[in-house]
Amino acid sequence: MRQFAVIGSGPAGFYTVEALAKAYSGTARIDLIDRLPVPYGLIRFGVAPDHQSIKAVSRRYDKVMEDEAVRFVGNVAVGRDVAIPELLDLYDAVVLATGAPHDRKLGIPGEELPGVVGSAAFVGWYNGHPDFADLDPPLDGANAAVIGNGNVALDVARILSKTRAEFAGSDIVGHALDALEGSAIREITLVGRRGPHQIAMTPKELGELGHLEAARPHAESADFPPVEADAALEPGVRKSVTHLREFTAMSADKPKRIAFDFFARPVAIEGDGRAERLIVERTMLDDSGASVGTGETYAIPASLVVSCIGYSTPPIDAVPYDDRGGRFANVHGLIADRLYCVGWARRGPSGTIGTNRPDGQEVAEQIVAAMPEGGEKAGGEGLYRLLAERGVRPTSFADWRTIEAAEIAAARAGAPREKMVRHDHWLATLGH
Ligand code: NAP
Repeated sequence: MRQFAVIGSGPAGFYTVEALAKAYSGTARIDLIDRLPVPYGLIRFGVAPDHQSIKAVSRRYDKVMEDEAVRFVGNVAVGRDVAIPELLDLYDAVVLATGAPHDRKLGIPGEELPGVVGSAAFVGWYNGHPDFADLDPPLDGANAAVIGNGNVALDVARILSKTRAEFAGSDIVGHALDALEGSAIREITLVGRRGPHQIAMTPKELGELGHLEAARPHAESADFPPVEADAALEPGVRKSVTHLREFTAMSADKPKRIAFDFFARPVAIEGDGRAERLIVERTMLDDSGASVGTGETYAIPASLVVSCIGYSTPPIDAVPYDDRGGRFANVHGLIADRLYCVGWARRGPSGTIGTNRPDGQEVAEQIVAAMPEGGEKAGGEGLYRLLAERGVRPTSFADWRTIEAAEIAAARAGAPREKMVRHDHWLATLGH
């Protein structure tokens, strides 16, 4: 029996486990370890709560757990409860699928003011991540600024704009639903440091902005190049730009507005004890397509600033780290002998959920090819002994099913579940 540990039960972790289980068909045991007592990582805590069809991919991951060779080991933080060298002693190979849950910093003055939050925190707050349950973002002002022109910025702007009725069928957590219902925000400015042709928003998600009950998107025609220039764009981007062009002509007939402010580079956040305005510098594109400042600055009123400019992977002791890339230092997923990484921890935060499938398969193939001859390792049994000595009580997939049943039972009408948002609440449900 080979013994493998995959750390992180988001998409990259599940696809890697699936590929390893298939490759070894019954001749390996695979432990899927997560620091939280519940599985699914990004699917549960990152994907927007009103995008339930995307979240449904977790059912496919449940099939992976039906394999007797696979075991979920929740509530175990690698680096805190058990160290990487210890795992390498216990297992034939260790795969880090820890994602990129930390916000990249803007690096501008005022970033630490109350009212400035990163997207990991904001998204975690409305998705019930225990680390952000107490975020309490200020929604008492009329203006919010959302920095970045990617899909996360789009998620944040949409969630800030929706009515309570529009969240029907979603699993947005109750504390966020109530707070958003009472929100005073009327103008949400989406700040992009480059132009419409450079957006990283995908057409389906962008198109949703045109169909909101209480908000209208708006873009300025002056920001666009002549329409003929769209022909040179890659088809997906062209579709997104077509949506943006439609937004230039939409009437302002709804109480809220989502305004695209292109060619605007954040330079500071100002306010008296809390965020009141985002200062941006007008930009233009140089020949390489990079944004360069023009020296002209102006203020965008904002008592809430959500920075959606990408994520990084938290370092783990004894694992080489690529500071510039914000991920583990690796060559095609290989970090060191028998130590691998997959998904965002390997490539950085890009691509769709599906991108992680070939990624996991490739790393699984490498592991199979590199496995040396050798005696059997202690694997999960050794890990459980170590954790018991340290007073750490792991959760199983059956435990998750118990939590899931309690969350389903607590759902408000029409919602799939009411997520528990506290570590203690999960463990109390299990009688721990
Ligand atoms: P992203 O797609 O990389 O977008 C990041 C945005 O932040 C870009 O517009 C970037 O502008 C901007 N930016 C970076 N640094 C900046 C700075 N210092 N100042 C101002 N702007 C800055 O990242 P993301 O939105 O976090 O999404 C991560 C991944 O998850 C993406 O692959 C995304 O498609 C995916 N995702 C998908 C969905 C979905 O399919 N529904 C939902 C959410 C996320 P530049 O282009 O100028 O660098």
